[in-house]
Amino acid sequence: MLDLLERVHRKLSLLPKRSEPWPEALGRALEAVKRAVEEEAPGLLQGVELPPEEVLLGDAERLRRGQGPEGEGYAFWLHQALRLVPWQEAGEEGRCPACGGFPDVGFLDEEGRRFYVCAFCDETWRAPRVACPYCGEGRADRVVFYAEDPFRIYVCRTCGERFVVQDLRLKPALDLPALRARAAWYAVAEEEDVEV
Ligand SMILES: [Zn+2]
Ligand SMILES: [Zn+2]
Repeated sequence: MLDLLERVHRKLSLLPKRSEPWPEALGRALEAVKRAVEEEAPGLLQGVELPPEEVLLGDAERLRRGQGPEGEGYAFWLHQALRLVPWQEAGEEGRCPACGGFPDVGFLDEEGRRFYVCAFCDETWRAPRVACPYCGEGRADRVVFYAEDPFRIYVCRTCGERFVVQDLRLKPALDLPALRARAAWYAVAEEEDVEV
């Protein structure tokens, strides 16, 4: 499963950005993502339906701000499509300085400083030492981590979300598709309640 997720993320990371105007760009991006996923993992998006355009565009706006829609397959599909659509808005605290998106993974640099990676444009920026990117929790006893070298899995006790980072002191090259596959794998494992 981890291998499959990694292949899918690697393939998706190679798709070109769209140049059509919004919302046509989103429609094209959704098609491109579906084709790429079907080639690597036939059936992964099987049975996943897109809502009417009005709902879809509302979901896209909310997902940009960190609120994923219901349905794991649909949320994944929409997220990956949005990565292909250029976007820019004022970055709030804790959000991407380039596009305003939220971070989905992170890393620790050679000096152990924490960085976020934008879920949409891959921009990186300095993160607080202790913070949950989902709910903003910043108390050290509420955001804990365990290490599975070279990864650290932060768990927020306030909102229950997990956040995976790669420790570059243990594995120097940042490999985003592998890191995102790992984050997706922990999310799936948590849902199915299996040991990871
Ligand atoms: Zn961004
Ligand atoms: Zn949280």
